[in-house]
Amino acid sequence: MSFIDWQDLFDEVFEDCSDNWILTFLHRNDMSQYENLQKNCVKMTRTGYAHFHCKKCSKTWSSAKAQVVLYHPKSKTSSRKVTLRFYGQQCKRCSNRNNHFVDPEFENDKMKSYLETLYQKFGWYYYGDERPETQNRDINKERQMNGPHVKELCEACQSGCCERI
Ligand SMILES: [Zn+2]
Ligand SMILES: [Zn+2]
Repeated sequence: MSFIDWQDLFDEVFEDCSDNWILTFLHRNDMSQYENLQKNCVKMTRTGYAHFHCKKCSKTWSSAKAQVVLYHPKSKTSSRKVTLRFYGQQCKRCSNRNNHFVDPEFENDKMKSYLETLYQKFGWYYYGDERPETQNRDINKERQMNGPHVKELCEACQSGCCERI
């Protein structure tokens, strides 16, 4: 469900773009595509508050360390494709039975603000707009919001890309 929401918002945010950009999804087990993206794309990582819902046992929880990565091509002539990768968390109740990661579900406003940041970046990255000074760094405002974080259940921690405090 969540990816569909991302796609809808993506189309909305990118509606006025002169090119027809599409959003695709990277499955966590697709290593060859992952390597391809690492080589040919630029990453925009966002860590923030999101909800999780385990479909196996219906447990819900939230975390301020939910992570999503948006890949876009390094080259200005590559195909107009953004790829989204979720970093999930394991359900506490089910974690000893399987290694299934639950994908984060961000609030609509949050998804939209991430996509708007990306859209603005595309302005100077691909289309020759002037680069705004405030966007020189990839600022992640929510770094302070930290509750207890169970590293064993966090996919980003296990992949070595979780936000450090
Ligand atoms: Zn569960
Ligand atoms: Zn983590």
